[in-house]
Amino acid sequence: MSSLTSAPTMIWTGGRLAAAVDGRIITPGDAAYDRARSVFYGGIDRRPAVIVRPTDASDVSQVVLLARETGLELAVRSGGHSLARHSTTDGGIVLDLADMHALEIDPDQRTAWAQTGLTAGAYTTAAGAHGLATGFGDTASVGIGGITLGGGIGYLVRKHGLTIDDLLAAELVTADGQLLHVDADHHPDLFWAIRGGGGNFGVATRFQFRLHPVDQIVGGMLLLPATPETIGGFIALADAAPEELSTIANVMPAPPLPFVPAEHHGRLVIMATLAYAGDVEAGQRVLAPFRALATPIADLVRPMSYPEIYPPEEEGFHPTAVLRTMFVDAVDRDAREAIVEHLEASTAPMRVAQLRVLGGAMARVPAGATAFAHRASRLMVNVAAIYQRPEDAEEHRAWVDRFAAALRDGDARAYVNFLADEGEARVREAYPGPTRERLAAIKARYDPTNLFRLNQNIPPT
Ligand SMILES: Cc1cc2nc3c(=O)[nH]c(=O)nc-3n(C[C@H](O)[C@H](O)[C@H](O)COP(=O)(O)OP(=O)(O)OC[C@H]3O[C@@H](n4cnc5c(N)ncnc54)[C@H](O)[C@@H]3O)c2cc1C
Repeated sequence: MSSLTSAPTMIWTGGRLAAAVDGRIITPGDAAYDRARSVFYGGIDRRPAVIVRPTDASDVSQVVLLARETGLELAVRSGGHSLARHSTTDGGIVLDLADMHALEIDPDQRTAWAQTGLTAGAYTTAAGAHGLATGFGDTASVGIGGITLGGGIGYLVRKHGLTIDDLLAAELVTADGQLLHVDADHHPDLFWAIRGGGGNFGVATRFQFRLHPVDQIVGGMLLLPATPETIGGFIALADAAPEELSTIANVMPAPPLPFVPAEHHGRLVIMATLAYAGDVEAGQRVLAPFRALATPIADLVRPMSYPEIYPPEEEGFHPTAVLRTMFVDAVDRDAREAIVEHLEASTAPMRVAQLRVLGGAMARVPAGATAFAHRASRLMVNVAAIYQRPEDAEEHRAWVDRFAAALRDGDARAYVNFLADEGEARVREAYPGPTRERLAAIKARYDPTNLFRLNQNIPPT
């Protein structure tokens, strides 16, 4: 192990970390350091004192105890996709679970135990080999750790609910270094809190999920011209569709992809991904009216195996982005016009309004049953600018804020997993009154000193 740069860490590196932990320890002098400190988003240049890659829960426990002893900031990382830059730290400890990626699937019981360093894509591919699935999000490289603890909204949300609705149990290392088995019968308060409460309560080392038979779906990308009318038509169809269908519609300038005719490049389109998790013929019938909304610019929707819904991702893609998230109950004519106007006015190389119609299985779970409280919301809307030059950050941030303000309805609600580093008021939008009070009381019980604070934080009461 090479020497550490920050003085306080010297206290505990006196052989202690290396002796206590089986996993890799990466410090500033190591060749692997720069790669290991990078995260999904670009424009983040933090230098942790140490990055630990645990191999098991006992390693995790040792790292938690060391963080507690030293007071160093602890960043817990699964897939490294935190929009709020929470998966790294300046001068603290990164606990990177990437080497903990074991998966045990029980096809007969339709359950799986998954270590939390797995990505959504790796889990989905392995489960797909059995014709089974648990729903995560829209991106394969997202870690199951972060997405699950915040809720998990993806291509099966209307059919099978949020990711947490399939969470049966978890193993969690709490702030005192103990490994707890958490489920409906064991530490039920904690089980409630980790289903939406994020990384506030401990380090999840394993999750047990329910699997559903999801083999062939009708899915893929449909590109339509974007106008207030087509956007409205799309939302109305997605809302009225059977819950087998979940959709994610990105209204954005058409990217110069090979399947997009050149004359459409840069013009506003609805770039939607549709996933009908049910009978293929029925799916084709349900999707026909979407195809009839306008002449499709591209239609890649076809019967496919469920894991194919995740397209391959570009190696080394580290976008710099600013994003705002909200739940709304409708996107009326004014809002649809605002979408078109704002997207046309932006100077960002890529900008998007993402519309996700919700409902179905997600909405049938009572709002108080988990720490994810926004069950009744009809839509999630995310607006984002993706850009290259750091000096343009302020301009794009201001644009995103104006755009979000134009779409918000009276009741400010936010999805914790899409929050950036936006301050306490926005965290409150993720956790309305009673949810927040209950979370804060559970936090006080399990993490009274707020060791797990580098997250969308719930301070202990
Ligand atoms: C490109 C992209 C697409 C996305 N698409 C979706 C989507 O479709 N649906 C959706 O619901 N969300 C989506 N998200 C949001 C995503 O769910 C969150 O960013 C999530 O936190 C990422 O999880 P991660 O493990 O990759 O990130 P990390 O950065 O590793 O973790 C984020 C935070 O989660 C906590 N955490 C992570 N792992 C653990 C653990 N094992 N124990 C305790 N705490 C932990 C920590 O507080 C950490 O700071 C997307 C994000 C990106 C960047």
